[in-house]
Amino acid sequence: MNSDIIIIGAGPGGYETALYAAKNGLSVTLFEQRKAGGTCLHEGCIPTKCFCRSAEAADTIAESESLGIRVASYEVDFRRIVERKNEIVAQLTSGIEFLLKHKLITYVPERAQLVDAHTVKSESGDTYTARHILIATGSTAKIPPIAGCDLPGVLTSTELLDIDHIPQRLCIVGAGVIGLEFASIFRSFGSTVTLLEFAKEILPNFDTDISKRLKQTLSKRGLEFFNQAAVTAIEQTEAGLCVHYTWKNQDCSVTADTVLMAVGRSPRVDGLGLDEVGIRYTPKGIETDENLQTNVPDVYAIGDVNGRCMLAHAASFQGRKVIDHLLGHASAIDLHIIPSAVFTRPEAGMVGMTEEECKQQGIAFTAKKALFRANGKAVSMGEPDGLCKLIANEQGKIIGAHIFGAHAADLVQEISALMNCGTTVAQLKNMVHAHPTLSEILQECAREF
Ligand code: NAD
Repeated sequence: MNSDIIIIGAGPGGYETALYAAKNGLSVTLFEQRKAGGTCLHEGCIPTKCFCRSAEAADTIAESESLGIRVASYEVDFRRIVERKNEIVAQLTSGIEFLLKHKLITYVPERAQLVDAHTVKSESGDTYTARHILIATGSTAKIPPIAGCDLPGVLTSTELLDIDHIPQRLCIVGAGVIGLEFASIFRSFGSTVTLLEFAKEILPNFDTDISKRLKQTLSKRGLEFFNQAAVTAIEQTEAGLCVHYTWKNQDCSVTADTVLMAVGRSPRVDGLGLDEVGIRYTPKGIETDENLQTNVPDVYAIGDVNGRCMLAHAASFQGRKVIDHLLGHASAIDLHIIPSAVFTRPEAGMVGMTEEECKQQGIAFTAKKALFRANGKAVSMGEPDGLCKLIANEQGKIIGAHIFGAHAADLVQEISALMNCGTTVAQLKNMVHAHPTLSEILQECAREF
């Protein structure tokens, strides 16, 4: 069978690119070895957001007395939480499967392997050819070479989404995005949570002010953090899983019922036939140029597998850029402006450059801050804890935003849109913002310049 493009992997990168390609008149063969939807839908963004909603409900009830609502008692029904998550994932999966029933898309529910730059073989032995091949196979959880990582009860985030009980004591190795989201969720469900992080700060890629404030707030919620902690081994003892680590030159340990390994993700490259076809890759992912093309002409790689930016929306926009490139259209997509968020309670969001990056790259900048506690809406919501930082270059153009506080993920999107339009802080000052909204914090911050 021959088509314009073969896409391997139907996560948000692969399936959205398939739909965009078909919309633009290209015929597509799309391979998927599991169910359509990828990490995002089955073990990432969506299931965790389902859990976040349940966690938020638990917190609201637990804290409702301060809002004048007395609730006699409540119970966290974890089986129902997992069931609801599975229902939502199933509903969204069938939505994608329906969309993929497009006349220009051939969906092959099988594993695919590259034969050459224009040919792919399916697991059942059929051969498919195309003018172009796009690899969008995603990533898998990294398991560090630490003794005891294979013990029962030491889980990846995928496995933690499907346990049948709330661990009383949860130890999380890695305080990056995944570690923090699960820490925040399971704390709301009643677990005692200890985080062991190798780096000096949590969320190493975020603005330091934001990660420090987030750590303070999460600590107030009862999460226990150990930074610059190096896990050496995990062993099963009578008391539970004993996680050994060195911290401040001391040998320490924490005992838990469940250990989550959240130390990053690795690109899924095994068994793809990359070596046979001569496609260059490193442990960080398949090497690509600015058009997401690999060193082999006509073969492209998008999303987690190229290691550029492990976010669902980065994958789907990279895919659109590839199709624009194939069609010879000038692409208006700026892949330097990619907002990201951590769905802890409260949230953190960022887009563009951090102060640290500006300094490293010798870019002159000004940074100003505004606090949530000065915003009427945040205070009325009972969410006064938060900080917004805007960064502008010498011309006053906004080049970064870093927000910690209620709805930070949504707030950062406004700045992302403004950055795409090259907006200055002076222009933002003059844009009317509705009162009372959290978005006024952005305007207040702009007025500080
Ligand atoms: P990450 O890179 O964000 O964090 C991993 C953390 O583990 C880092 O802080 C690192 O210093 C630490 N670490 C590494 N080895 C360690 C060790 N041996 N002991 C202690 N700490 C160690 O990775 P992640 O949280 O696993 O997430 C994987 C990818 O998925 C990231 O790229 C992330 O952006 C993406 N993701 C995004 C979202 C979101 O956008 N909301 C949610 C989940 C995942």
